[in-house]
Amino acid sequence: DTVRRPIMAGNWKMNLNHLEAIQLVQKLAFSLTEQQLNEVEAVVLPPFTDLRSVQTLVDGDKLAIRYGAQDISAYASGAYTGEISGAMLAKLGCTYVVIGHSERREYHNEDDALVNKKVKAALANGLTPILCIGEGLEVREAVGHVGHCCSQLDNALDGLTAEQVQKIVIAYEPVWAIGTGKTATPENAQEVCGAVRARLVEKYGKETADAVRIQYGGSVKAANIAAIMAQPDVDGALIGGASLDAEEFASICRYQ
Ligand code: PEP
Repeated sequence: DTVRRPIMAGNWKMNLNHLEAIQLVQKLAFSLTEQQLNEVEAVVLPPFTDLRSVQTLVDGDKLAIRYGAQDISAYASGAYTGEISGAMLAKLGCTYVVIGHSERREYHNEDDALVNKKVKAALANGLTPILCIGEGLEVREAVGHVGHCCSQLDNALDGLTAEQVQKIVIAYEPVWAIGTGKTATPENAQEVCGAVRARLVEKYGKETADAVRIQYGGSVKAANIAAIMAQPDVDGALIGGASLDAEEFASICRYQ
């Protein structure tokens, strides 16, 4: 049996300036014991402008909290005004980078081909992608969710080796459950997370599929995390709103 270390990642979205970021990470460090931080990987995903401050705090106090960015450029460097490269994120000590979040797919027209390029850019710089997939309400109502998510997965991972796939974190986030207060049932989460793992077995083999951590995301809070984590193919959560409160996020990290 493969033991996958649970990963709780807080996606702050466009919230908190660098001073507020320091405050939240400090509170988080006080709220979680060394043992809790050993058992669960706690990750914060602040806006780009907070990363330097978070790096300084985490390094200075040797905090067992990891951090990453919410997006990455598909390009290595050059004339791409407003973009941030993988090399820049790696230099700031980022471990993770969110790729293909539904808000970027929707408001910035990111398609699967761009998501695939960003996954490759992250891996090329030693960053671990947190690859987001998930269906909208219409697809869910038409019961096309498993096919939709597997297709997003296939496209995002196109051209990668099993060794590369093994490193990736996948976040299943049904769009209808993000920021809506409508959490998918634990069974809803398991259905897609299980199908994603089965797809990975089919394409890359059992060893690779067993190593990949799959998160659920969508209105996760302290009150519903335990039931979600009890599902066999759910290895963690991607948390938006509830990650902005240190106590709430710490409770999610201590889900047992
Ligand atoms: C998210 O943005 O990834 C998310 C899951 O948001 P929320 O927890 O607020 O639904």
